[in-house]
Amino acid sequence: MFPPTGRFAPSPTGAMHLGNARTALLAWLHSRALGGRHLLRFEDLDTGRVRPWAFDVIRRDLAWLGLDWDAESTQSARLDLYAGALARLTAAGEIYPCTCTRREVAGAIRDSAGAPHGPEPVYPGTCRAGTRNPERPAALRWRVPDRTVCARDALSGETLCQHLPTEVGDLVLRRGDGAYAYHLAVVVDDAATGVTDVVRGADLWPATPRQVALQGALGLPTPRYLHVPLMTDFRGERLAKRGGAPPLRALREGGEDPARVLAALARSLSWEVPDAVTAAELLPQWRQTLTAAGWSPLSQT
Ligand code: GLU
Ligand code: ZN
Repeated sequence: MFPPTGRFAPSPTGAMHLGNARTALLAWLHSRALGGRHLLRFEDLDTGRVRPWAFDVIRRDLAWLGLDWDAESTQSARLDLYAGALARLTAAGEIYPCTCTRREVAGAIRDSAGAPHGPEPVYPGTCRAGTRNPERPAALRWRVPDRTVCARDALSGETLCQHLPTEVGDLVLRRGDGAYAYHLAVVVDDAATGVTDVVRGADLWPATPRQVALQGALGLPTPRYLHVPLMTDFRGERLAKRGGAPPLRALREGGEDPARVLAALARSLSWEVPDAVTAAELLPQWRQTLTAAGWSPLSQT
C-alpha cells in the first residue's frame, strides 16, 4: 500500500496568483496533516498555453511560502505513460477517431433533437460509426459506457452523479494535434504516483465523475477527492490569471513577508490566525476543517 500521498498540480501557463497559492497551501496542509508525501506535478500538455518561465516562478513561489514537496514530475516527460493507457483502451475497442471541427460539433448538437441542454455541450457521437473526413487529423475519443457514474467529495460529503452518454459524452483523450487530454493524463499520473488524496479547486468538481469513469475503464484506483472553494475578489468574481489578479511573484519580489501572505490566505478561509504564520502553524486549522467534515480525529503531529 502507498502511504497517504497528495499533490499540487499547477498548469505552468502563467504566474500563480493568490487563489492558486491558497489551493497550493490547502493541498500541502492536507498531505502533511496526514503525515503523507506531497508531490508537485506540472501539467504542461497544452503546449500552446505553456510559458517556459512559469515552471521556475511556481517553484520559487511555493518555496517562498514554505510549501515543500517530496518529488516533482512534468507531464510532457511522461507521454509514453498516456500512450500506454490509450493503447489499452484502443485494444478494448473503446476508442474511435473523430475529425469533427468545433463548429461541426456545435452544429451537430444544435441539430440533434431532444439533446439535453445542460451546462456543457455534449458531443453527440457523430463519428462513432466512422469519420466523414478521413483526410483530416483525427482526435481520439473514448466511447463512454452507457452508465451513470458518481463521485463523492470527502470534504463537503456531496455526491455528484452523471449519466455518461447524455451528460458527459465521448471524451477526447488525444487531440488532433497529438496532445493528450488533461482527463487522461490526470488519472494516469495520479495512479502512477500513488496519489491517495486529491485536493484541488472546486472548478474541477463537475469533471470528477468522468475521471472516476476513466479510472474504472483503465482499472486504476480512485483517490479521495477534496474540492476547495476558489478565491474570489471583492466583487465576488473568481481570481484569474487573465483577469489581472496580482501575481504572487510581485509580492515575493517586492519584499513582502510570506508569513503575512499565509495569514491573509488563512483569514480568507475565516480561520482565526495571528498577523503572521508559517504554513506548519496552519496544520491545526486544517485538521479542524477535516474533523468538522466528519474525518476521524487525526494525530496531532
Ligand atoms: N492543472 C489543473 C489546474 O491547474 C489542476 C488539475 C487537478 O488538480 O486535477 O487547474
Ligand atoms: Zn466527430
